[in-house]
Amino acid sequence: MRVTTDTADTDSIHDLPLHDLFVIGGGINGCGIARDAAGRGLKVMLAEKGDLAQATSSASTKLFHGGLRYLEYFEFRLVREALVERETLLCAMPHISWPMRFVLPFHPAMRFESDTPTSRILARVMPWMKGRRPAWLIRLGLFLYDYMGGRRLLPGTRTLDLTRDPAGRPLKDDFRRAYEYSDCWVEDSRLVVLNARDAEARGARILTRCEVTGASREGDHWRIALRHADGRKETARARALVNAGGPWVGEVIGRLGIASTERVRLVRGSHIVTRRLFDHDRCYFFQGTDGRIVFAIPYETDFTLIGTTDREHDGSPADAACSDAEADYLCAFASRYFARPVTRDDVVWSYSGVRPLYDDGAKSATAATRDYVLSLDDAGPVLLNIFGGKITTYRRLAEAALARLAPHLPQAGGKWTAGVPLPGGDFPVDGFDALVAGLARDYPFLTPFHARRLARAYGTEARALLGKAQKPEDLGRDFGATITEAELRWLMRHEYARRVEDVVWRRSRLGLRLTPEQIAEIDRWMAAA
Ligand SMILES: Cc1cc2nc3c(=O)[nH]c(=O)nc-3n(C[C@H](O)[C@H](O)[C@H](O)COP(=O)(O)OP(=O)(O)OC[C@H]3O[C@@H](n4cnc5c(N)ncnc54)[C@H](O)[C@@H]3O)c2cc1C
Repeated sequence: MRVTTDTADTDSIHDLPLHDLFVIGGGINGCGIARDAAGRGLKVMLAEKGDLAQATSSASTKLFHGGLRYLEYFEFRLVREALVERETLLCAMPHISWPMRFVLPFHPAMRFESDTPTSRILARVMPWMKGRRPAWLIRLGLFLYDYMGGRRLLPGTRTLDLTRDPAGRPLKDDFRRAYEYSDCWVEDSRLVVLNARDAEARGARILTRCEVTGASREGDHWRIALRHADGRKETARARALVNAGGPWVGEVIGRLGIASTERVRLVRGSHIVTRRLFDHDRCYFFQGTDGRIVFAIPYETDFTLIGTTDREHDGSPADAACSDAEADYLCAFASRYFARPVTRDDVVWSYSGVRPLYDDGAKSATAATRDYVLSLDDAGPVLLNIFGGKITTYRRLAEAALARLAPHLPQAGGKWTAGVPLPGGDFPVDGFDALVAGLARDYPFLTPFHARRLARAYGTEARALLGKAQKPEDLGRDFGATITEAELRWLMRHEYARRVEDVVWRRSRLGLRLTPEQIAEIDRWMAAA
């Protein structure tokens, strides 16, 4: 790519290489589309204004899930697609994704003030049930959940006697029965980085800390103006443009000077993290009186993740933060279930993200559709705007995006991503324990925590990171919580990490374990490197 100093005076702009596809945004949707397109033989370029996954894609609940809640809104297409997708993704990335069981406690006296299509029908045909979600309705939902998605690997629903099952122990005595069903966990920001790496391995050019400041149609292509974090300017050319700006999708449309009637609805979701609240590896699915649901999930071995909220977000998506009111709401919500109340004193960290939902005019943030909408503007070289989407459906969204672009990029190959592992994921779906055992055998100086952490983060590539190391010192300095110079080098060389927050809050969540001094040391080391 030729670098120009100013996009306004590029007299020889047509000498710049012409890409087939330019992607704006390095969240999961942008990176998923870039990977898919590069694998189809297209010449692809992607620009992310900050770090990969710096926005919504590192602030999710981190579930590959069908979305049990969406059944109440009759979002059958979305739920089915997501349910089927869970196992496809699990097989492609058995290091960063794994099955989880969810415990949904039930109490016949529970009351719900929800205004979903299901509760409205229920109120009409069974008025005496108003405000209740009967057991049979939950069981029916779970039955659909079990069978809509062609489950092969994940176990189905079962009923739990909470008076005997260990899952009942941390809960209040009122809860005597629960349903347990399956979904999957995913390390969201690692998913994004691995998609970007794979896209690059297939020929894509990935630019981080590089903002798209404008783009205009010129003949048969787009001319795209870029500004790097160090102030350098660059111009690119591409036949097709994808706007995967997430919460900034509307702002990007504005920068392109395009009139659009479509609107994004910004809905903030916050999570709190506490020290571990229970001693088993299952999650809880709590239903609230306001019709919302909140998860309590084992997190990073020693912590519990509780979320999420659903609030309209005003202002810049970059300013999203968990407010005191949201933290109180989550504590109160969880305390209706846990025997020991959860208080603000238990909270060790919180994070917040903004859902870039398609504005379908729904009354509340909770009711707004979670399905994705792809809007194509072909008044000249083509532009595809992406609204909404789930982490779970990113691969299907990428396929759908390329199907929409296909008439404009006839040289593109066909679908290929189903069943193709992401970097480090080339081992059997049930092979994780064997992978950890192999690392522990060949690198006996690793603590069990360290070996497991590396296997989860890097899968089969952990060996490339560890190289010929025979003793801890061979990995260089240990900055704390098992993060070493060797790992920092890997992250900077192969995973686009530039700053300390890229490493301790996105490529890993070791920020939860490191002291401020240790984080400052990593920062100094990275700046010098
Ligand atoms: C609280 C919460 C919980 C969620 N939980 C789940 C879950 O458990 N499971 C699930 O499947 N989904 C979940 N989701 C949904 C999922 O996280 C999002 O749908 C998804 O991350 C959106 O990805 P994206 O790529 O569209 O947006 P983003 O990740 O926000 O990426 C957009 C990127 O574009 C970049 N950008 C913007 N403008 C420019 C520009 N001009 N130049 C260059 N770059 C630019 C931004 O910096 C940003 O990194 C959750 C969402 C939230 C908020």
